[in-house]
Amino acid sequence: VKNVKKYEFKAEVKKLLDILVHSLYTSREIFLRELISNASDALDKLRFEQNKGTEIVNNELPLEIRITFDEKKKILTISDTGIGMTHDEVIANIGTIAKSGTEEFAKMLAEVKGDVGNIIGKFGVGFYSVFMVAKEVTIKTKSFKKDEPAVEWKSDGLGDYEITEIEEKINRGTSIIIQLKDDAEEFAQKWKLESIIKKHSNFISFPIYLENEKINTVTAIWREPKSSIKKEQYDEFYKFLTYDNDPPMDIIHKSVDAPIQFNALLFIPKKSNDLFFYDRENYGLDLYVRRVLIQHKNKDLLPEYLSFVKGVVDSEDLPLNISRETLQENVIFTKIASSVTSNILSHLQEKAKNDKEGYNEFWKEHGKIFKLGYMDFANHDKYVELLRFNSSKCKDENELISFSDYVERIKEGQKEIYYIVGANRSALLLDPHLEIFKNKDLEVLFLYDPVDEFVIQAIRKYKDYEIKSVQNVDLKKINEFKDVVEKKQETEPLSKDDQKHFYSLLSKMKSILGDKVEDVVESKRLVDSPSCLVSKDETISSQMKKILKMTNQ
Ligand code: ADP
Ligand code: MG
Repeated sequence: VKNVKKYEFKAEVKKLLDILVHSLYTSREIFLRELISNASDALDKLRFEQNKGTEIVNNELPLEIRITFDEKKKILTISDTGIGMTHDEVIANIGTIAKSGTEEFAKMLAEVKGDVGNIIGKFGVGFYSVFMVAKEVTIKTKSFKKDEPAVEWKSDGLGDYEITEIEEKINRGTSIIIQLKDDAEEFAQKWKLESIIKKHSNFISFPIYLENEKINTVTAIWREPKSSIKKEQYDEFYKFLTYDNDPPMDIIHKSVDAPIQFNALLFIPKKSNDLFFYDRENYGLDLYVRRVLIQHKNKDLLPEYLSFVKGVVDSEDLPLNISRETLQENVIFTKIASSVTSNILSHLQEKAKNDKEGYNEFWKEHGKIFKLGYMDFANHDKYVELLRFNSSKCKDENELISFSDYVERIKEGQKEIYYIVGANRSALLLDPHLEIFKNKDLEVLFLYDPVDEFVIQAIRKYKDYEIKSVQNVDLKKINEFKDVVEKKQETEPLSKDDQKHFYSLLSKMKSILGDKVEDVVESKRLVDSPSCLVSKDETISSQMKKILKMTNQ
């Protein structure tokens, strides 16, 4: 045999392979989705090089994916005319886990143990998933670059792989040849392959031929008129895009013509993926120029606080050969990005107005991320209107109000919006700071999330109303409001004798508490409780101090 070289898989690859090989049968079919998606990526990259005018081997070949099978021999082959790989690229791309996502995924898989099958389908597991069904895999690949020899890679997925230079002449692109495991023979059957391709890969933008018959749709659904698309097609596309099993919560389909032309098809997922660190890193919108994919998961089209939004953006007005590195400096691109943001915010405004319940659902799922938008000064007014809070006047912890709801029922003469910070509603309802506000019938916003306080500190005001912590209010102002319930008994002024006892009690407390407090004083705010802690510092509340202490600042 000519120049065969053996290599060992890196330790982390072995670990991942071990998990995949032993994973549940139900999720095995997604290996085909992964291989087709790699073929499609390779074709996208090739088209990108063509648009740049690069010299390309076999430039005349059509850009397509071909799948063939041999039912008797249990062999399945997936071929593309994409970018291909050189000898060194095969080692770099296939032999190691290059993308951090796969590493994260492997960690997560190891953590969840039991339910592996359920999780695999939701993530882009990558090339190695082929070993769920393969006894042996051969890759034959020829790079688009001139004078690079074709290469063969072969492995049983156990510990090592071997690489050989191919001497015979083969065309540009990559073929993955799979010798199926005995119990995976169904993946060499036409009906099975056809149904898997339809289910997972229908929206791939290059033709997929199964034994010479085209299987997929190949339409850029985002460029079709809204009226021609059924809900099921949107849902199907969403699933194709996100691997999410639930249909989306909302669909935003926009066609903008002026001043810059673009189409956007955006989705708000039903469930937040906040739990998965893996997915949080993975956000972004797919950017197309005239139906040609320029970049998967572009992060500059969306501000981070809208990172829960999934989808695609396609523009006629960007050059096809635009490089990803210079996108951010492109004026047209940045205008598209800001228009995408304002379209999403307008959608949310509409939703908040017309579907209050739906908006509250949205808030409970995605509010945690959305709140981080307090840095988006350009959209400040819209952002502030979209915030939601629980408050002392809500009937339970599920009810939410906006600043505008608060102001609509504000007390006559009230110039401030009040808030209190705490772990949960039942704790806050018992908080002594709240007593006087209850007694004066003043509404107080309840902030449960540590981030809320940063949000409030950043926005400071809603319209002309200053937003103030109940710990830092001017009690004189509060006391000007009428009591709802008359005090049970008018407290009589203390007698000289009692006064002496009272002040000596205060100074005793002070000496016991020592450095822990600034002062111990008579309270004008309490109604039922004997004592409470108040903050002297105007800007930092006790809750915020706890956070700062936690983070050692
Ligand atoms: P990902 O696709 O997320 O990068 P994969 O594990 O699926 O991760 O693939 C790893 C890498 O192998 C790809 O990034 C690509 O460089 C290379 N690769 C896989 N399949 C092909 C193919 N059909 N053509 C060219 N390169 C490929
Ligand atoms: Mg892949």
